[in-house]
Amino acid sequence: MNIILLGPPGAGKGTQAARLVERRGMVQLSTGDMLREAKTSGTEMGKRVAEVMDRGELVTDEIVIGLIREKLEAGGTGFIFDGFPRTLAQADALEALMDEMGQSIHCAIEMKVNDDVLVGRILNRAAEAAAAGQPVRADDNEDSLKVRLMAYYKQTSPLIGYYHAKGLLRAVDGLGTMDAVTAEIATLLDS
Ligand code: AMP
Repeated sequence: MNIILLGPPGAGKGTQAARLVERRGMVQLSTGDMLREAKTSGTEMGKRVAEVMDRGELVTDEIVIGLIREKLEAGGTGFIFDGFPRTLAQADALEALMDEMGQSIHCAIEMKVNDDVLVGRILNRAAEAAAAGQPVRADDNEDSLKVRLMAYYKQTSPLIGYYHAKGLLRAVDGLGTMDAVTAEIATLLDS
């Protein structure tokens, strides 16, 4: 089973993906993590995307599709797409890649939240990381956050209609406790 987690920054996609990895042995494919890794290790691509990411804008479709293609070509199944696709072009590319691999998307789970909660959650994540002496994401600040939210509404939210039209859209209440959201997702996956 391959699934997509859809939702704005701070909706809890990463947290829920980690739980699915731990509890169901699924494989998390987070383009955000892959890009941050490229940034940290200072690859050519990492250098090219650093500023765009720090501002909160989306990197090019070509780059993220290439990253996902590499992972899918390595084989396996049970993927959780976390933070990908983020544009309609990426969604089409994912479908083509899955076809090529003889695989399919089981569902796209929309994590529903509201903006007030998001800003609070993300600034909290930054404050907690700082307090624990951990690195703070360069894009976890109020300015980048505004750009990230706008990118979500302009470029990513059309995917809700896209997956709805394909009959693949499911939704969970992302405002519940982490455990409540996990339980809702489990119910969806087991039904
Ligand atoms: P995330 O960790 O998912 O919040 O992603 C962090 C940043 O990485 C985003 O704000 C974008 O700059 C970039 N990014 C991650 N995934 C994608 C994607 N699928 N398409 C374009 N940019 C992405």
